[in-house]
Amino acid sequence: CGIVGYTGHQQALDVVVDGLRRLEYRGYDSAGVAIVADGALASAKRAGKLANLEKALDGEPLPTANTGLGHTRWATHGAPTNQNAHPHLDESGRVAVIHNGIIENFARLRTELERSGVRFTSETDTEVVAHLLAAEVAAGSELAEAMRTVCGRLDGAFTLVAVHADVPDRVVAARRNSPLVVGLGDGENFLASDVSAFIAHTRDALEVGEEQIVAITPDEVTVTDFAGGAVEGRRFHVDWDA
Ligand code: GLU
Repeated sequence: CGIVGYTGHQQALDVVVDGLRRLEYRGYDSAGVAIVADGALASAKRAGKLANLEKALDGEPLPTANTGLGHTRWATHGAPTNQNAHPHLDESGRVAVIHNGIIENFARLRTELERSGVRFTSETDTEVVAHLLAAEVAAGSELAEAMRTVCGRLDGAFTLVAVHADVPDRVVAARRNSPLVVGLGDGENFLASDVSAFIAHTRDALEVGEEQIVAITPDEVTVTDFAGGAVEGRRFHVDWDA
């Protein structure tokens, strides 16, 4: 439902949770975050209101970090439980992914992964993406490249955002028939399902087109199509009150 990604000079967790709060009006049933700190991922997720997640974070604070992502979920596959909340991690805990939309062919992908020995921890359609991404990265692909390959295997509509413990200053996203915008900052960049998630920080934005992949670092934004070709994103200024 709501998606936020961040990499830059601020505390990622603060930016992400604040962004999720600004997306709350859209409605949701669970919320979660993941950050990349010291070569590892840390995450927290809770069914219910953002306040539940914040309480969990108060009780068990995550390490400080400059890269992270957050999600508010509107369940389509699997009940609104802590376990089914996003982000979803692969078995090694090195990849975290959040997702808006529906992956139509997830059951077939899940069966295939389970046959190869992968153990699932949720009932969501989303979790297949975490395992598929991890396998691509383990096979030597760079994260955006891995996202491109995985998207080629997915049917349905999605915005996907992922981080990997091995690349602490990068957030990668993809979209097909589901919204995704980039917020362009100074030494920081944002990803979101809606500009309202980041307009407190920047009103310079970049439109991501259909079937495109975007990778952000604090200083760079790279957009490609699903075939890997470079794309010039359309910049715009948010001059309305979102
Ligand atoms: N289909 C996913 C799920 O049920 C994502 C739902 C959403 O768009 O929030 O977890």
